[in-house]
Amino acid sequence: MNKTYDVIIIGAGPAGLSAGLYAARAKLSTLIIEKGIDGGQMSGTQEIANYPGIDDPIAGMILGMKMANQAKEFGAEKLLSDVLKMKLDGEIKEIETLDGTFYAKAVILTMGNKPRPIGVENEEKFQGRGLSYCVTCDGAFYQDRHVYVIGGGDAAVEEAISLTKFAKKVTIIHRRDELRAAKSIQEKAFANPKVAFMWDSVVESLHGEKSLESMVVKNVKTGETTTVTDDDGLPLGVFLYIGFLPQTDLIENQINMDRGYIVTDENMETSIKGVYAAGDIRVKPLRQVVTAVSDGAIAAVSVEKYLEENK
Ligand code: NAP
Repeated sequence: MNKTYDVIIIGAGPAGLSAGLYAARAKLSTLIIEKGIDGGQMSGTQEIANYPGIDDPIAGMILGMKMANQAKEFGAEKLLSDVLKMKLDGEIKEIETLDGTFYAKAVILTMGNKPRPIGVENEEKFQGRGLSYCVTCDGAFYQDRHVYVIGGGDAAVEEAISLTKFAKKVTIIHRRDELRAAKSIQEKAFANPKVAFMWDSVVESLHGEKSLESMVVKNVKTGETTTVTDDDGLPLGVFLYIGFLPQTDLIENQINMDRGYIVTDENMETSIKGVYAAGDIRVKPLRQVVTAVSDGAIAAVSVEKYLEENK
């Protein structure tokens, strides 16, 4: 049997890494399990400009690496693996992964969100073949091309602006006639001559043999449809930024949730004793890096107190 950790943290986004740092610094034996890269959703962001103290914008991927290094330096262990099952109700929590089962006295859930799909046929088929959820990862493939971004929130508009570093033109397709993004971000987009808009529009269908060749976009006010193809006859490049869904599938019937998000108290404690949640995965009013790291720190300190009280 693997050793029993004081705490296992599931997910290495800013909430998980901050929890790892605080837990390890408090001398708790700490394991962080992550299936992807450090930084989570943040690592798909080209520039983080609103994290206090970082006055020179930093790539999300770099900030993630720095947070992971810091947690490791304080003694947190990292496991790159997929979690398959969690048994959270007992005194000792069991986390089954592709690389074996791990045990802990407490667990902090920081799995965050996954990108929301648009929900049209063939969407999965075109992932990585024209459809992308990550400008940082795929933006450079579209040098001097005309690309499309779906969505009207902070992420869509910020990433559209980032894409103009590569693309000759970026068209934002948004389902309403005004953006949800913060005014300061909107202003930057409106002032950028490479950014264009298709208002009141939604993607109805995607087409192509091997890669995405065209998409049908419908104007929801007029009902008119337009078939969008690439200006130069190449496969289309479309970036989806229409929000996120919580990654709570593994714990669905075990824990108290509200519309898919985990309910916690202000100490990040969930409905299960010894189980805490931090970051975007929990019910909260503001999902930002700065609030995720704050949640992570609070969760780790709560675990420390819980272990002290339940020695
Ligand atoms: P978001 O704020 O939820 O925006 C999602 C956008 O996608 C909205 O414009 C929404 O349209 C649209 N949308 C949703 N479902 C759709 C569908 N099925 N079809 C077409 N369009 C759809 O998500 P986000 O931009 O990813 O941001 C998530 C959170 O992270 C927010 O709290 C945001 O403030 C934060 N964030 C902050 C920054 C920053 O501060 N710099 C950067 C990135 C993200 P409607 O507007 O019509 O609802």
